[in-house]
Amino acid sequence: MQKPETITGGCNCEGVRYRVDFSPNHDWERGPLTCQCTQCRKMCGGLIYNLHIIQNSEITWLSKATYAEYNSSAQNFRAFCKNCGSSIGWMDRSVGKEIELAVGTIDEEFLVGDRDREDKPLGAYGVALANPKSHHYYIRNEIQGVTDTVSRQGTRFWRASKEGAMKENEL
Ligand SMILES: [Zn+2]
Ligand SMILES: [Zn+2]
Repeated sequence: MQKPETITGGCNCEGVRYRVDFSPNHDWERGPLTCQCTQCRKMCGGLIYNLHIIQNSEITWLSKATYAEYNSSAQNFRAFCKNCGSSIGWMDRSVGKEIELAVGTIDEEFLVGDRDREDKPLGAYGVALANPKSHHYYIRNEIQGVTDTVSRQGTRFWRASKEGAMKENEL
């Protein structure tokens, strides 16, 4: 699996821009995750929200001109752009050391890579950034016949991480 050293990303209007410099001990196993909870769906507008855990020390905010946060529950905050509406990520302030960054905001060159003469993507860091063999949360919200085929790989969680992963016989 090809891993990036540095990536950039941001919202549609570029009012929010960031750079991530991955630490040599970045946790590529735990990093990528998906969530199908209703809050994540409403926030990102998609049925599955792809996130990647980034340490605060790894992220540099190049612009926060239009950055805003929504206090979605207890200690949890959801970052977004108040101009264009892009979802930026999710944070648990009781932990306070990391952000779950919205993978869809990472610049195309890192997700898709260059293209061949027929416009087909040549591939970049998609698997490292959004590995389908990583963690999948809120399996209880799977949409039968639609999202259940996507999150079959990796470790599945009926709800959030604190309740633990599903056991073999529950898969
Ligand atoms: Zn924006
Ligand atoms: Zn969620």
